[in-house]
Amino acid sequence: MRFKSLSTLKRPKPLEIAFADLPQKIAMAHYARVKAYKINELVHTIHGDSFEWYGYTLAKSHTPELIEDIGLPKNDQNLQDYTTIGPSRIAEFQELLPRETIINGWIHSHGGLNYRHFSKTDEENHLTMLNFVAARLRKPVAKREIAIQDSVMLVKGQYENKDLEKGSVCFITDVPVSTATIMETVYGNFCYGIVIGDEGWHEQVIYYQERGILSGHTTIRSKPAKVVFVDTGRSLSQSDISALSDEVEVKIQPNTDPPPEMIERM
Ligand SMILES: [Zn+2]
Repeated sequence: MRFKSLSTLKRPKPLEIAFADLPQKIAMAHYARVKAYKINELVHTIHGDSFEWYGYTLAKSHTPELIEDIGLPKNDQNLQDYTTIGPSRIAEFQELLPRETIINGWIHSHGGLNYRHFSKTDEENHLTMLNFVAARLRKPVAKREIAIQDSVMLVKGQYENKDLEKGSVCFITDVPVSTATIMETVYGNFCYGIVIGDEGWHEQVIYYQERGILSGHTTIRSKPAKVVFVDTGRSLSQSDISALSDEVEVKIQPNTDPPPEMIERM
């Protein structure tokens, strides 16, 4: 047998049909934005200096892409330039949330530092967060063909065990068929990452994970994202601020004498 050209030997691209999108921008309520910068301010007033802190971005489960609020967990340690997140801490915090509230990412502050990018430590935190929120935010985003090299078609009641020894995958159907295509559901999820600074700047990233339910094929990617502020009708009241100030007092624990290995590597 002769091929016209080598290109005919290329494996065809698996069929993929996308039917849902993951967010390309970050939608955030004005309330959440104001609250984040208020935390910076309160950290400075209450603890006497700028310290890194982190919190979770929160959404309602029926609108998982919209950040409506910031949740402040008890931070393990707050140094001037270091913040870390552990999965058990996230789980602990999630359990305290009302049923309809979900975590869709995290936000942290570089305080008074003019380092306006995500650091190596931040990247590790993004992946920890992505992994945690994956199960709660996943949705079917596509159907993708599973390419099978040598499948064998068998008919129910008309094959023997030795027929099963052939091929990599057997299809057993009730009527004779000659070809079949398997399309697996690809689940996708996202996780937001936001970093802010005392001077009012902010940077954002979205992490995405996609996983084929049958093949287990998983991809992770990320991209810098714009933030779009949305008016949800809620504003930070005086009583919100005094409650927040109590939270900042107990949940942020400045450690001004960190061991050198704890300092965030930028
Ligand atoms: Zn950072």
